Amino acid sequence: MKSQTSLYEISSLTSVMRIRDSKTSAVLKIQSRVLKTMTDILLAKGFQWVLPVILAKSTDPLWPDPGYSIEDRIEVEIYGTRVKTMQSMIVHKRILVSLGPEKIFILSPNIRIESRKRMTTGKHLYEFTQLDLEVAYAKMKDMFTLFEELVKESIEDVRREMHPELELLSRDLRIPTVPFKVYKRAELEKEYGEDWEEEISNISKDPVWVTDIPRQFYDFQDFETGEWRNYDLILPEGYGEVLSGAEREYEYEKILKKLERDGLRRDDYKLLLDLAEKKLLKPSAGAGIGVERFIRYICGLKHIGEVQPFPRIPGLVPEL
Ligand code: ATP
Ligand code: ASP
Ligand code: MG
Repeated sequence: MKSQTSLYEISSLTSVMRIRDSKTSAVLKIQSRVLKTMTDILLAKGFQWVLPVILAKSTDPLWPDPGYSIEDRIEVEIYGTRVKTMQSMIVHKRILVSLGPEKIFILSPNIRIESRKRMTTGKHLYEFTQLDLEVAYAKMKDMFTLFEELVKESIEDVRREMHPELELLSRDLRIPTVPFKVYKRAELEKEYGEDWEEEISNISKDPVWVTDIPRQFYDFQDFETGEWRNYDLILPEGYGEVLSGAEREYEYEKILKKLERDGLRRDDYKLLLDLAEKKLLKPSAGAGIGVERFIRYICGLKHIGEVQPFPRIPGLVPEL
């Protein structure tokens, strides 16, 4: 397992003077380069780059999810209407690819007030960004191939072009072999118990896919077999999860049943339900890769806060 960051190390991360370090500068250069690689690939494949939404009546419930640990949900009133801060743009992505361009991506800021107990996990922030994408009529396999290309090309490019920065960070970065191995969550759970994510991350040399994970209503579940057509991408060397995604539910009755099962309010997903009822909600697949988690891995950093010039570490609110 990656060792937890000490409180002393964490408090030094929140000093703005850290921005002057050559290490911070190398990380930011690498991040710029990786974002360029990934967005260039998506644009070349005909994706539309959409700008993010931050305040909305509808957002990801983040529930039920095995890793759920939210301390607070932010709701504010604007123009006499209650809105939430964005936890993920899943609802917006589904509606966009159903009514508009069929291939989209967003660099989407997410606010999740994670439990302060997550201060030292090294992989949690309370504000982070997903490179979040969705493709109408796509399947799980299409997403595997697409993200394998995005991940491999980004790493190859950094290895080729950012040698001085990798050296400064003492990072020996391995180019992964594609396709990545695919495991079922149940088989990992059987072998490693409930800490399967950590175990498979520790023993793998390359990223691995894990499928069939019971979670939020919007991921597709085969009601006959119980199987979920969703997936996580787990990074090696103990870095853990970097991406979650799925094929999606699009049938009205199924969505209704799952909202009820999860104890969620229909009213929070009104537009999604209306479209589904009119059969206008297209089947799709997508995923979001955590930008800061991916950069932390590429740079070999102990704490994800080292990726941000103004770290958003759970439980710690800095001056800036
Ligand atoms: P975890 O179980 O590791 O806390 P999650 O499964 O709750 O994460 P998702 O809802 O799947 O997270 O979010 C999609 C992606 O966004 C994750 O795979 C991860 O890369 C990134 N992400 C999620 N939560 C955080 C966070 N608190 N800080 C940084 N990145 C995050
Ligand atoms: N971005 C994820 C997805 O596309 C949703 C999430 O943030 O959990 O499934
Ligand atoms: Mg996840």
